[in-house]
Amino acid sequence: MLERFLEVFSNSKVVAVCGAGLSTASGIPDYRGENGVWVKDPRALAGAHIKNYLADVEIRKNAWRDRLSSPYRGARPNIAHYALDVLVQQGLLDLIVTQNVDGLQRMAGTASKKIVEIHGNINSSLCLSCGHTEPMENTLIRVEEGEEDPRCLIEVDGSICGGVIKSTAISFGQKIDPELIRNVQYSLERCDLILVLGSSLTVNPVASIVVKWVRMGKELGIVNLQPTRYDHLAQYLFHEDVGEILCLLADTLVEFPKVRSH
Ligand SMILES: [Zn+2]
Repeated sequence: MLERFLEVFSNSKVVAVCGAGLSTASGIPDYRGENGVWVKDPRALAGAHIKNYLADVEIRKNAWRDRLSSPYRGARPNIAHYALDVLVQQGLLDLIVTQNVDGLQRMAGTASKKIVEIHGNINSSLCLSCGHTEPMENTLIRVEEGEEDPRCLIEVDGSICGGVIKSTAISFGQKIDPELIRNVQYSLERCDLILVLGSSLTVNPVASIVVKWVRMGKELGIVNLQPTRYDHLAQYLFHEDVGEILCLLADTLVEFPKVRSH
């Protein structure tokens, strides 16, 4: 199957759809998946809902404490991100759609126009009143210096905004930017092969969008350690480490051994 897959991959317009499995080697746990933190811990899930976050100062204080010690902080891209970047640079991948909010694909050097972060990212903080954004690290430093629930310091119409701040990652109850969805639909419509990487396709809207296009005739490849509920739809199925398969693709198709030096 591998040989045929390599041949099809190199001759197709490919869109990659990435999930938590891509970033586990960077030390980031799966929050949204079937065995994710949010599923196992209902209190963490309640805090992840925008309504509760806005209404309850204790939930916000808790969230900021969590952000300080979060595995996201200081996480680095792993070999899977670098291999994907090589494939994009060589024109072998059209677009990377990621459900991850860690920002690691951009950190690996991939151009922003080649990535859709469908759930946003945690790299910036956002004022929910005036919309001001700034690097998350700036806000985390304020928390470290003692502000338990930091508020927006931007001056609006002569007074301090004071709005509630959160990360630019989408919370439950927040709407995904329709422009991002349109971008994903546009690319999937024009691709030949959808390559699902490190995702068990359990989280919408990405799961339902992918399945829709596969049912309309797009080829499907899945690389995921565990079986997924859509394995039966895949022409190319690898229950293997996503980093291994991506390195194999990059090394074989691009003859770019540099990818292994990361
Ligand atoms: Zn503000």
